[in-house]
Amino acid sequence: MKLYNPMSRFFSLALLILLLQFNVDTAFAHSQDNEYHFTVKSGDSLSKYFTKLGLSKRLLANLLSASKKNQQLNQLKIGEKITIRLHTNRRFNSLSYQSKNKRDLNIALIGTRFVHAPKQSQKTETPLVTTPVVINSSFGYDAQKAGLSLNTINTVVEALSWQLNFDSDLYKNDKFLIVSDGSKQPVGIIYKGDNKHIEAFAHKDARGQTLYYNRYGYSLNSSFLKAPLKYNRISSTFQLKRYHPILKTYRPHRAIDYAAAHGTPVRSTADGIVKLQGWKGALGKAVIINHGAHYTTVYAHLSKYARNLRQGKPVKKGQVIGYVGSTGRSTGAHLHYELRYKGKRQNPLTHKTPEQQKVSRDELWEFRSKVNNILTGL
Ligand SMILES: [Zn+2]
Repeated sequence: MKLYNPMSRFFSLALLILLLQFNVDTAFAHSQDNEYHFTVKSGDSLSKYFTKLGLSKRLLANLLSASKKNQQLNQLKIGEKITIRLHTNRRFNSLSYQSKNKRDLNIALIGTRFVHAPKQSQKTETPLVTTPVVINSSFGYDAQKAGLSLNTINTVVEALSWQLNFDSDLYKNDKFLIVSDGSKQPVGIIYKGDNKHIEAFAHKDARGQTLYYNRYGYSLNSSFLKAPLKYNRISSTFQLKRYHPILKTYRPHRAIDYAAAHGTPVRSTADGIVKLQGWKGALGKAVIINHGAHYTTVYAHLSKYARNLRQGKPVKKGQVIGYVGSTGRSTGAHLHYELRYKGKRQNPLTHKTPEQQKVSRDELWEFRSKVNNILTGL
């Protein structure tokens, strides 16, 4: 006889969940799937409702501290109404609060940020047009055939290049959906591949700059680390004339050399896609990474590569790509690091690389409703 039966444990857990579900459903009116209505009774608190729905104390604390306005949720009055909406995976979606003598609140969680519905929503429902592009030969060719302008094609490539290698990631029958509201740039770009799904939504920030963001309001471009490793010192800076100890001549050094112990981990300075992993003449064992359409970084004289590194595959900012060595034309253990912008070597210590942006909290609600509008129209 078995002393421990995992199946019976599974069934009792399932039963418990069913009972809990039943309790939740009978405890208050339940009008729509995943929408829970509470009318405040004596002794009630938001914390009680959160517990009933299986939402964490930490989430509640984050909600209350996200804004001064939210603190009125600490003193609910009898008869006030709270509606909490959950996603199908039981994660928190949004909360509405009907107050007796204060302002009503509508709060949504977008990514990791709680945002308020604006006082008056600017509903400018411009009709959207979606152009599908199905990959048959190449994105450029197929997009032109689908009727997209060269300008739009370039915009799409620039927006998605941080995450998609247009040369090697695309397969026949992969699909792009280009959503336009009639303005110059697409408002939404969606890529659906077999194992990759990328979304980009246009947003113009307060300074008038239009960038592409994911649905949580983070721009698709990565920011860069200051340096690709923990180093002892910079042994050679970016300079146009440097005496070369091996070649015994003066030559430009359009890179930074970081002196570091043999085997020190080297990290990709930004999100990107591995363009090359291999021996590259004087650079020895090298890794070259593309970051978006315009940036490239080079890491040279490595002793070895990170085990999981693959040419053509994505890397994250800070991911270890290899280890310091002295391969190629090198006099001692160091990392030779180059930053290229549009093919030209830049001084990594002074060149201003792009920062990842996020949609401001004030604009996030509007942004998200535009995103929802685009996604439901597909
Ligand atoms: Zn160097």
